[in-house]
Amino acid sequence: MTTPRYRCTACGNLTRFDVTTTTTEKAFYHYSVGGDLTIEDPTVLKMTVEEVSCRWCGHGRAVEELRDDTTGTDAVPEEAGQ
Ligand SMILES: [Zn+2]
Repeated sequence: MTTPRYRCTACGNLTRFDVTTTTTEKAFYHYSVGGDLTIEDPTVLKMTVEEVSCRWCGHGRAVEELRDDTTGTDAVPEEAGQ
């Protein structure tokens, strides 16, 4: 599972964010005869990002998600002629 990167367009922050997530996790619950629990093989089935806020600005109003296809290449030339 890949985690997206974020950018705050207000201050240019790329590295410090408060991220609130909700995860759905499956795990093997292994109880001893005495009732002691050992949780094994936790697997994240689903992760939802609830909120991302910039650590510097203190809010998430200007935070945008960076996608892989926005890394450096110029936009596709338009066919608009002159
Ligand atoms: Zn910021």
